[in-house]
Amino acid sequence: MDHFDVDLFVIGAGSGGVRAARIAAGYGAKVKIAEEYRVGGTCVIRGCVPKKLFVYASRFAHEFEDAAGFGWNVEGVSFDWPTLVANKDKEIARLEGAYRANLERSGVEIIAQRAVIEGPHAVRLADGTRLTARTILIATGARPNLGLDFPGRELGITSNEAFHLESFPQRIIVQGAGYIALEFASLFAGLGAQVTVVHRGDKLLRGFDEDIRARMIDEMKQNGIGFELNATIDGIFAFESGKRVRLNDGRDLFADEVMLAIGRVPNTIGLGLDTVGVELNEAGAIAVDAASRTSVPSIYAVGDVTDRVNLTPVAIREGHAFADTVFGGKPWSVNYDVIPTAVFTEPEIGVVGLPEAEARAQGRRVDIYKTDFRPMKATLSGRVTRVFMKLVVDQADDRVLGVHLIGEGSAEIAQIAAIALNLSATKADFDRTMALHPSAAEELVTLRGKHASSDPLPEASTEVTPAL
Ligand SMILES: Cc1cc2nc3c(=O)[nH]c(=O)nc-3n(C[C@H](O)[C@H](O)[C@H](O)COP(=O)(O)OP(=O)(O)OC[C@H]3O[C@@H](n4cnc5c(N)ncnc54)[C@H](O)[C@@H]3O)c2cc1C
Repeated sequence: MDHFDVDLFVIGAGSGGVRAARIAAGYGAKVKIAEEYRVGGTCVIRGCVPKKLFVYASRFAHEFEDAAGFGWNVEGVSFDWPTLVANKDKEIARLEGAYRANLERSGVEIIAQRAVIEGPHAVRLADGTRLTARTILIATGARPNLGLDFPGRELGITSNEAFHLESFPQRIIVQGAGYIALEFASLFAGLGAQVTVVHRGDKLLRGFDEDIRARMIDEMKQNGIGFELNATIDGIFAFESGKRVRLNDGRDLFADEVMLAIGRVPNTIGLGLDTVGVELNEAGAIAVDAASRTSVPSIYAVGDVTDRVNLTPVAIREGHAFADTVFGGKPWSVNYDVIPTAVFTEPEIGVVGLPEAEARAQGRRVDIYKTDFRPMKATLSGRVTRVFMKLVVDQADDRVLGVHLIGEGSAEIAQIAAIALNLSATKADFDRTMALHPSAAEELVTLRGKHASSDPLPEASTEVTPAL
């Protein structure tokens, strides 16, 4: 192992760092991993996992309401926020333990301290200990972006604190229109809060297909969520037992909590990057090549700190590819072409592949297939909600370039659709796939009739009546 203390020193035990450390150790490398907070990182501790648990909790509200139409009497149900938080904390602690155990079983030494870089092969721990490493991997993730400063900004919470609120906010203002903002808006509304979304633009979910963006706002309004669009927060002030929020047009809104969710920024500050010459890109993320190597040959970076595609499975793949390449002699790099993604709002969004506008911007001629129908469950529950599905198909070779879904189960459908897109499935492949009835997903393989993108949809169908 030449003259270094370790072969690999990983900074950050989140999705990317943990995978890289475990795989590298599996190849016989001597590995240490530093974590300043909790092992598991954002996804496990204060991201995907606790969020999905909260989403599950919030969805019982609709289930209870819908149950009446199916003959159930569920009067007198109530919700207890402290119970949810405590049970969630227990599960997160269990998962953290599992992550620790996996690392230790793989032979990785966990150092519960902040680490910074001192040289191309040197790191310094918070307690002053210095260590040398043949290779350093930066996997420090990202943190909430607090945006421009304004009076009382410190009175707002971020997603980090939203997981630990002592009392349930009966009224909450959420600033932002990305997936994290909308997921929290949706889950708080489901749990019974009065929710207002404040967004500086007039559309939600930048980067998503325009049809999805337009429809989601209608669905959220249907669920009682209020919107203040083209608005920003100018100040937050303590007011009685809650907060007063001053909007840029001078109006005041009142709430128990104000959640700031306008994006995330890579964790690069104070890491010592400038001292060793690790370059950042224009967005302030660590610049890396396809092998996740930074401008310093012995230093690599994976995950959100590189701001490529900020999702857990992507960070994990980047970490895995790095370890296989550098320690396993099996070089490969991550393919970013087909990445399924979901927004766990109510109803949820599932997406894989290109939005229509992006496909067209690439110079492709595309055919659009859409359907919009009332889900079968809504026929008895009486809930006002729609399922929406859209396929973007390349005219040149009939390949399905994008699948865009809103409705129950959309995340699960998008994951499976990703297999089809990975196999370069054509619209003809979708068409000759046997439908599974009765399901919502069957509409994806029975879509007929192209739409110019501005065409209105035909009179809605429901999944009750398949194309017989
Ligand atoms: C609310 C929320 C919901 C999300 N939901 C989803 C979802 O549904 N699906 C999905 O795919 N993704 C989701 N994400 C994104 C996902 O969590 C991230 O993409 C993923 O965690 C990135 O992994 P990472 O390894 O790059 O960084 P992280 O998981 O953030 O890990 C970085 C770790 O480094 C530690 N660290 C930082 N600096 C240092 C230092 N100097 N020394 C030691 N340790 C340090 C941090 O404490 C952290 O534990 C969500 C994120 C949030 C915030």
